[in-house]
Amino acid sequence: MHNQLDHIREVLLMGPGPSCVHPRVYQALSRPTLGHLDPSFISIMDELKEHLRSLMQTDNTVTLPLSGTGSAGMEACFVNLIEPGDRVLILVNGVFSMRMVEVASRLGALVDTLEFSWGTPVDPAAVEKQLDAHSYELVAMVHAETSTGVCNPVGEVSPLVRSTDALFLVDAVTSLGGMEVAADAWGIDALYSGTQKCLSCPPGLSPVTLSDRAFTKAKNRKQKVPNWYLDITLITGYWEGSKRAYHHTAPINMIYGLYESLKLFFEEGRDAVFARHREMHELLASGLSQLGLTMFVEEPYRLPMLNAVTIPESVEDEAAVRKRLLEEFCIEIGAGLGPLTGKIWRIGLMGHTAREDAVKRLLDAFDQVLSD
Ligand SMILES: *Cc1c(COP(=O)(O)O)cnc(C)c1O
Repeated sequence: MHNQLDHIREVLLMGPGPSCVHPRVYQALSRPTLGHLDPSFISIMDELKEHLRSLMQTDNTVTLPLSGTGSAGMEACFVNLIEPGDRVLILVNGVFSMRMVEVASRLGALVDTLEFSWGTPVDPAAVEKQLDAHSYELVAMVHAETSTGVCNPVGEVSPLVRSTDALFLVDAVTSLGGMEVAADAWGIDALYSGTQKCLSCPPGLSPVTLSDRAFTKAKNRKQKVPNWYLDITLITGYWEGSKRAYHHTAPINMIYGLYESLKLFFEEGRDAVFARHREMHELLASGLSQLGLTMFVEEPYRLPMLNAVTIPESVEDEAAVRKRLLEEFCIEIGAGLGPLTGKIWRIGLMGHTAREDAVKRLLDAFDQVLSD
């Protein structure tokens, strides 16, 4: 019988995610499925939590992979930490901080935004001014803004938020596993990520950590968390303690995949992994510049794992370029979003995609496609 899965070709995933999955993660995904309360599985969960704490550089007890993609992590942080009428400040300079505004508004928060132009980073001086003039229950920002390729200065904003009573919420979906993310040193109360960016896994889990202060706020809410599935006080009943209680069935094999990806991260070593992302970014940027292409973001603010490239005026149909890369060269790159549609391409160098052969393959393909 005809089976479409037999015809899936291997695409070099160089877009904004998902990125290439490591072969050892594919192997891990195909290990036998265990019951979600099987003692061997609980033991895998416990070790996984330890590795996640180390990856996120935190001692937080509540550190676990939520079932769902990065957006589920975003929703979980807001839904657990915000009550209707809470004053929330969101620092906006791209698609994902705009998504935060949407999520927080739906929960009845009073949302203020501080906006910065797309392609530039959050300016700590503006944040300081805003925090001097207003008080908030929560301040949220995106570390690696995947829609623009900008790295936001979480470490500089942190002391400003810390000097108020607000909780500090950070999106580390694209940064975690590819560059420094130090949850405790940066005074972060709630951080979420995703498996399909720099962790070399397929999409499906959202590693999350909550500080004691954040978890206490979730436990002492006046109203129940309005979303049963993402209620962290219920989820920790399954992930914590000596008596593990069923909440929802954990995505067992995805958890094997994440477990293996964290093994890979620590085998290679934190510094080596981050250096590899930076080096591949430099190789790509210099190769692109030799082809006459320029980067969209100014050098000091560029992310290593998400490279926004300005589409040259000579290119009339940018979608045709991406289509040729995919059809002829089996390489996927990303388009611009929102106001950057048609203005930039987004080239991901995340996790297992951040390799020399991948960068060279893309540069060669670009060279052929652009010179035709
Ligand atoms: C990809 C991404 C998300 C959303 O993750 P999904 O896995 O698509 O739900 C959120 N924030 C940032 C910065 C991202 O790059």
